[in-house]
Amino acid sequence: MERVNTLIIGSGFGGSVMACRLAERGEKVLVLERGRRWLPADYPSVSQSHWLWDEDEPETQNGWLDFRYFGDMSIALGAGVGGGSLIYANVSVEAHPEVFEQGWPEAIRYHTLRDHYRTVGKMLNVQNLPDTQWTPRTRLMHDAAVALGDGERFRVVPQAITFDPDWHAGLDNAYGYGHSKPWINDQGQQQGTCVHCGNCDIGCPVQAKNTLDLNYLAQAEQHGAEVRALHHVRWVRPLQGGGFEVGVRDLDARAWRRLHADRVIVAAGSVGSTELLLRCRDQYKTLPKLSRALGRRWSSNGDFFTPAFYDERHIDPTRGPTITSAIDYLDGDENGARYFVEDGGLPDFLGNLLEHAAHHPRLSKTRLGAALLEYGQDSSPFARMMPWFGQAMDDPGGRFSLGRRWYAPWKRDRLRLKWDYRKARKAVQGLADRHLALTQATGGRAMTPATWRWFKNLVTPHPLGGCNMADSQEQGVVDHAGAVFNYPGLYVIDGATVPRSLGLNPSRTIAALAEHAAGEWR
Ligand SMILES: Cc1cc2nc3c(=O)[nH]c(=O)nc-3n(C[C@H](O)[C@H](O)[C@H](O)COP(=O)(O)OP(=O)(O)OC[C@H]3O[C@@H](n4cnc5c(N)ncnc54)[C@H](O)[C@@H]3O)c2cc1C
Ligand code: SF4
Repeated sequence: MERVNTLIIGSGFGGSVMACRLAERGEKVLVLERGRRWLPADYPSVSQSHWLWDEDEPETQNGWLDFRYFGDMSIALGAGVGGGSLIYANVSVEAHPEVFEQGWPEAIRYHTLRDHYRTVGKMLNVQNLPDTQWTPRTRLMHDAAVALGDGERFRVVPQAITFDPDWHAGLDNAYGYGHSKPWINDQGQQQGTCVHCGNCDIGCPVQAKNTLDLNYLAQAEQHGAEVRALHHVRWVRPLQGGGFEVGVRDLDARAWRRLHADRVIVAAGSVGSTELLLRCRDQYKTLPKLSRALGRRWSSNGDFFTPAFYDERHIDPTRGPTITSAIDYLDGDENGARYFVEDGGLPDFLGNLLEHAAHHPRLSKTRLGAALLEYGQDSSPFARMMPWFGQAMDDPGGRFSLGRRWYAPWKRDRLRLKWDYRKARKAVQGLADRHLALTQATGGRAMTPATWRWFKNLVTPHPLGGCNMADSQEQGVVDHAGAVFNYPGLYVIDGATVPRSLGLNPSRTIAALAEHAAGEWR
């Protein structure tokens, strides 16, 4: 039976930081990741394929995006070596210090994380969009904030992207990949610089995104950590005398594996970690002493999107990094609703598709190929649309559990999410109303999605909680350093432990919490 010191399940922000820090200390670390190891040629932005992950059929559908529908709430997740950093919009912001005044274990306050936030920023090479590279969305955000008398609330957001100060939109074929400049990062990995192509969420074709596989995980591997892609962990069982046995489905070989580990870190994300532990407690009964708090107090982080249309402005949301700036209303001065407005970009699906078709061997040297290529680079059916985006500080009103399937009511094995929109209504409505006000102040027409107006349905890419951290097992599942109550040697370190909404993009906080946990293990 294969045995390791530390087995990490998942390679997102929690898993990669832990792999790096423990491998640096000489531990034998094995990371099991359900998704693929993606190379730029395979990214959906380039290959135009491998789009979806299906948790029920991962051997046949192990693509880029795992989209889960739970009725009133849907959740978007990444799958692959590097976790959510592959699919994310690169915004790397600190949570506001006041967020840590309530809802956290005693040991976690802003000052606990201050240095860790900096470390994460350095590892991810976080930068601000250069002033010369503001996009039309950035300018609209700024104009709208000023028009409402809120100019001081506007700022560009820090991003895990490498920018080239010489790039500007006036260059010939400015968004062409040829303008990206190659460089070698601190971990010796080849990267490029940003050409504002707008594909951040479907894979950066020029490696300007500083994804975790290029920094934290690369450093972990240089220190001997092993990362196995397409390994889907299904259960964890404590062994008599210490350590754990872990059951894994090898998706490539279509075979079962069992491994032994002295310590197990579950880092499968808010949904993945919560689901795995719920199955271990309630379905397989391998971890029956997990806290009753498991699955509870889950938060959507109040994500909301409003499309708005302008007659006079050229916005071109398919160009530029997916998010560039924010207008910060997290102080709650406006009716007590706390939220963080951001601009949202869209990948250029049509342009990418046409460009892909143009490069097909049968078309590449024809006039049709050239025309497709030209149209693909110029087309922008959404040219006058502004996708207002943002997050709001909702109350953690969600609860995950395992439910029955109608066709097999004797089994409780279906992951369910009960989400109470009333706990999010004030904050999300505040954000939705602000989108309308910002649009009106700049001469546009906004459309609050009917899914919210009529049905109170939301989609979030920022799930938080499910295995919340707390000072006792009555209140949470793990302590401040991710140690699972009642199971020494078992940890959860990822977004599942964040016990409340942050009201803004959470990845930097998740990574800082992992740096904190790693520091506690000395
Ligand atoms: C479209 C999109 C845009 C986003 N933009 C931003 C942004 O700009 N800024 C920001 O801060 N956040 C953003 N996020 C959110 C961010 O990606 C997440 O908050 C972050 O990745 C969570 O980190 P994590 O470590 O908790 O989990 P993840 O990064 O999700 O990592 C969990 C990993 O575990 C793997 N896994 C799950 N189950 C298993 C299993 N059973 N066995 C093995 N492996 C498993 C998953 O495949 C995944 O790789 C975005 C998310 C999406 C979907
Ligand atoms: S805009 Fe394009 S080049 Fe820049 S980070 Fe996003 S995907 Fe990469």
